[in-house]
Amino acid sequence: MKLNALKLTNPYLELPSECYHRTVASPLVKPHLIHANESLAKVLDIDVSELHTENFVKFVNGEYAPKGTDSFAMCYAGHQFGHFVPRLGDGRAINIGTVNGLHMQLKGAGETKYSRSGDGRAVLRSSIREYLMSEAMYGLGIETTRALAIIGSEHKVYREQWEKGSIVLRVSPSWVRFGTFEYFAHKKKYAQLEALADYAIAESYPHLMDEPNKYLHFFTEVVGKTAILMAQWQAVGFQHGVMNTDNMSIHGLTIDYGPYAFLDDYDFENICNHTDQNGRYSFGNQPNIGQWNLQAFMVALSPLVPMEKLEKVLEHYPRLYTQRYLYLMGKKLGLENVTQEKDLALFKHLLGMLQGLTIDYTVFFRTLSRYDGDRTALLKLGLYHTPMNDWLDSYDKRLKENSISTEERHTHMLQTNPKYVLKNYMLQEVIEAAEEGDYTGVDDLFKIAQNPYAEHPEFEKWAGVTPDVFKNEKLSCSS
Ligand code: AMP
Ligand code: MG
Repeated sequence: MKLNALKLTNPYLELPSECYHRTVASPLVKPHLIHANESLAKVLDIDVSELHTENFVKFVNGEYAPKGTDSFAMCYAGHQFGHFVPRLGDGRAINIGTVNGLHMQLKGAGETKYSRSGDGRAVLRSSIREYLMSEAMYGLGIETTRALAIIGSEHKVYREQWEKGSIVLRVSPSWVRFGTFEYFAHKKKYAQLEALADYAIAESYPHLMDEPNKYLHFFTEVVGKTAILMAQWQAVGFQHGVMNTDNMSIHGLTIDYGPYAFLDDYDFENICNHTDQNGRYSFGNQPNIGQWNLQAFMVALSPLVPMEKLEKVLEHYPRLYTQRYLYLMGKKLGLENVTQEKDLALFKHLLGMLQGLTIDYTVFFRTLSRYDGDRTALLKLGLYHTPMNDWLDSYDKRLKENSISTEERHTHMLQTNPKYVLKNYMLQEVIEAAEEGDYTGVDDLFKIAQNPYAEHPEFEKWAGVTPDVFKNEKLSCSS
């Protein structure tokens, strides 16, 4: 439909008024469209032809309000690097309304009551990163928020130097965070906490609405979803970078893309966030932090459910995580009937070998996806042959237990192990061009993001090992 036929609803505004603050967007100066997501437009019932109209740019810039728009910022708290901050909230994201169960936010649309010392803006580089990576995660089949469009502008925003302001219109089936619950639990506002829990259940887990122990079941679902998400991140080699509890979704989504990274060479201890000096959010620590965050969420839910019951549920997290991780790694290796007893040692051996030889994580699995006994291509990935040969000996032995043919295994593995992931050096190249007004790289990475398993011969230059100078760079949160 046309934008002027769109009708937004605002279910979040039915919650107690402490949950949000009504506010309007402050538009950017001289906005222009950088990219729009046609496949998401279809999900939102917006005509693709509308995406290239002036009205659409105004819409993303907060200057055109479709029917039903009633904009607001959400209030939440959170543990940042382990320390509780009693009030955070949407400091630069303005919720405009909901279509087909997807809640739209304009990220970078100006100050809100929760901006603290921030300016409510987002710069071009961080907006491009969120816009592209959320679609890349979606393309990889990992639960995530998505984005309908990104606009640039002539609006000046200061981040150690003058940069240009940008807005991403992002959407999610839920913007409720662990920290949203922490806000009310900390304030001992239990009626609001209960209303929020009922809202979150209705939105994300509607099958639980009439359950007698619905809050306990709700926690069980969030534990399960978080375990799955962590396993997916580890298997694909994604590092979030800022796993504060305000960046953890009760819907089990990857949210709030900041200084994230895809692994270049496999490194269990990789730290991608410049501010994370102790490696709290290092790659290898993500599953543990998932559990730490669930514990904070559990404490926030404890006014609604006895703590002992919640603790019993959380005890299952390590098992749920491991089960899913083993399953995903089994798929990556093209193995059937994976079990912990049989295969854990093989997986650990593999990761140790990749770490020791500093081998590119994505390139390794893609190369292995064509392995037919000829080791040449794999041996080329590392400087020393013995560790790779040792591991391949074990892998060969394990492959003998497969019932599928080598060709079938290749087919499965090529659909499991992406040819392309959006590494930071690729994004950086595209961002530098975009800052000079050339957005072709954004278009290109978007195509890759949507279909990371396809060959895309025209983008072959991005399928290889990360150039040495760009490997494992740290990024700052200042976005
Ligand atoms: P993050 O870790 O990037 O998700 O942000 C943590 C908190 O800081 C959230 O409450 C954000 O809304 C807020 N924030 C980040 N950048 C800005 C900004 N430029 N202006 C206002 N608030 C911000
Ligand atoms: Mg955040």
